[in-house]
Amino acid sequence: MSDAILETAGLTKEFRGFVAVNDVNLSIRRGTIHGLIGPNGAGKTTCFNLLTKFLQPTRGTIRYDGRDITGMKPAEVARLGLVRSFQISAVFPHLTVLENVRVSLQRSRGGSFDFWRPDSILRSYDARARELLEDVGLSAYANLTAGELPYGRKRALEIATTLALDPVMMLLDEPTAGMTHDDVGRIVSLIRRVSAGRTVLLVEHNLTVVSGLCDFITVLARGRVLAEGDYATVARNPDVVTAYLGT
Ligand code: ADP
Repeated sequence: MSDAILETAGLTKEFRGFVAVNDVNLSIRRGTIHGLIGPNGAGKTTCFNLLTKFLQPTRGTIRYDGRDITGMKPAEVARLGLVRSFQISAVFPHLTVLENVRVSLQRSRGGSFDFWRPDSILRSYDARARELLEDVGLSAYANLTAGELPYGRKRALEIATTLALDPVMMLLDEPTAGMTHDDVGRIVSLIRRVSAGRTVLLVEHNLTVVSGLCDFITVLARGRVLAEGDYATVARNPDVVTAYLGT
């Protein structure tokens, strides 16, 4: 019996003959934080989009929680609990931070957001929305519009709106990109906290973040899996060092 929640077999994506992801076999264990790293152009984003069904593979299969999800649409896999940040949970800059989370909560319960719905209905999600804001450290920002949030806090809001969809597995694409040192520290502890009881796939450039968070790492280079293991194992792999140095 496999304890993998997500597995790919022979996952391949070609763009007009160019093989961006080449015969990738991933196995992501339930309850872990799994890092997907590699130099620019390695195929990380393409892989991420394949796993969340934003792209269809040219070949290969994807299994999630015991089912073949290869042919599914993004909304279908999201309903199964496989949720990427920024997926259905786009942040609306003119709504307040609290309203953004309420909208996500409403969506997670099957409705599409209706701007004409009486506010009283949306208010029923208030308590849970406030809890989620507390979880991500945004309580003090609840009544600001999302557009007014400092950049690092916006990423925390994206995580809150993702959590509102009740994910079993979260896929985070470079959650610390462009952040200050302090914001990185805050997001790292936030990811650690919200990963409890969940599985996380993290695409991340910042290797300090990866080493601090990830239980297991897959290194991609030129579309292929170059190395796998814990951080110490992949970091001393000479092929990984070479790929990162670009020699
Ligand atoms: P990474 O996220 O690791 O930097 P990407 O997945 O973005 O890598 O890209 C992998 C390779 O696939 C790159 O060489 C990129 O130019 C190419 N690629 C990605 N998307 C497309 C596309 N839509 N059409 C053609 N080539 C693409």
